[in-house]
Amino acid sequence: MKKLLKNGYVLMSADADIKKMDILIEDEKIMEINDEIENFSGKIYDMSGKLIIPGFINTHTHLAMSLFRGIGDDLLLQDWLFNEMFPREDLLNDDLTYYGSLISILEMLSKGVTTVVDMYLFMKGTAEAVKNTGIRAFLTRGLGYDNDEGWKKRIDETIYLFENYHDKYNIKVGFGPHAPYTCPMHKLEEIAELSKKYNTFVTIHLYESKNERELYTFEDIEKTGLFKNNVIAAHCVHVDEKDIKILAKNEVTVSHNPSSNLKLGNGIAPILKMLDHEVNITLGTDGAASNNTLNLWEEMRIATLLQKMNGPEKFKTEESLRMVWENGGYALNEKIGRLEEDYMADLAVIDLKSIELYPNDLNRIKSHIVYSPINKVYATMVGGEWVYYNGEYPKLKENDYYEKFHKLYFELEEKFKNKKEND
Ligand SMILES: [Zn+2]
Repeated sequence: MKKLLKNGYVLMSADADIKKMDILIEDEKIMEINDEIENFSGKIYDMSGKLIIPGFINTHTHLAMSLFRGIGDDLLLQDWLFNEMFPREDLLNDDLTYYGSLISILEMLSKGVTTVVDMYLFMKGTAEAVKNTGIRAFLTRGLGYDNDEGWKKRIDETIYLFENYHDKYNIKVGFGPHAPYTCPMHKLEEIAELSKKYNTFVTIHLYESKNERELYTFEDIEKTGLFKNNVIAAHCVHVDEKDIKILAKNEVTVSHNPSSNLKLGNGIAPILKMLDHEVNITLGTDGAASNNTLNLWEEMRIATLLQKMNGPEKFKTEESLRMVWENGGYALNEKIGRLEEDYMADLAVIDLKSIELYPNDLNRIKSHIVYSPINKVYATMVGGEWVYYNGEYPKLKENDYYEKFHKLYFELEEKFKNKKEND
């Protein structure tokens, strides 16, 4: 069905100016953007007083971890991971990951996020939450090596996910080796082959914490062939010049997660140095257990402010916006992150009366988007369908998710407590 978004202001991309324009959408794509589109038959949405921007792209999440929000707030990465997260993760199932992911997705849709890249376990639950909400998602089953049997099981789960969800319901499925310290080099070689065979993306955590530099090098990873694929590397906090050159040479995209890196005391990624070498930088929130909000507006603000340490002129508004828009589209090889003819109709609608956007002088709005995050957008569209509209989630058929999420959460915490007592 055709839709016409009429009388709104439009910001087509990070480097564009805001202009009054109409947007014609047919099926999943933008067919036309023009000053005034007449002679239209289909549904018209009056966007007077609204600003339409590209949907935000969050390139690193663990959606189901909203279940763990507020757990282990003051711990180092290794304690947080091995004492608080992994033992709870042993107790998960598809029901839990469904509701954990659902809550994360609803939070993101209300803030104009249209695409997420996820790595976790029990991904069938997450895939179902994606399907039922309509967000665009790049999903991976997190892969670590303990023994051959466990490894095979996780690879089989990835293949299951690929066969049942890839290229359906706005989902693409890739490979998610967790990190080189949980996934040894010969297993990364295997992933390099598999992702080539399935012609899909890879996402991995690299150099998140300082001690990882003692465990592996970027040359080791390069030798496995992994970087020959389309790779999104999360964090890259502790990279040096040599590592950055390897990322640039192999066109590896970096997902910068400043809040998570600050919260777990891991440091600040050298984003300006990476940009000097033309590394593609995108933005991620990481999971709700290490952030604890999935607010990409706030993430962009923090990312931008942190780079100002190097001088306020260094990191401009457009650079920040590119991280959440077209750099994400480029990383994922999709026509998203810009509003243009033939691009996906993935967009967010902002009410220009939002109090954070005063003065709503059009010359100031790009700055407001980066520095003055709003709490909620007016509407969010993915692939031509409204997935959030004026406080409602039009695609979601269930309304008792609040009760179900909390019931499962309290059961899980009870099991975790019992398990700890028995250990
Ligand atoms: Zn992560």
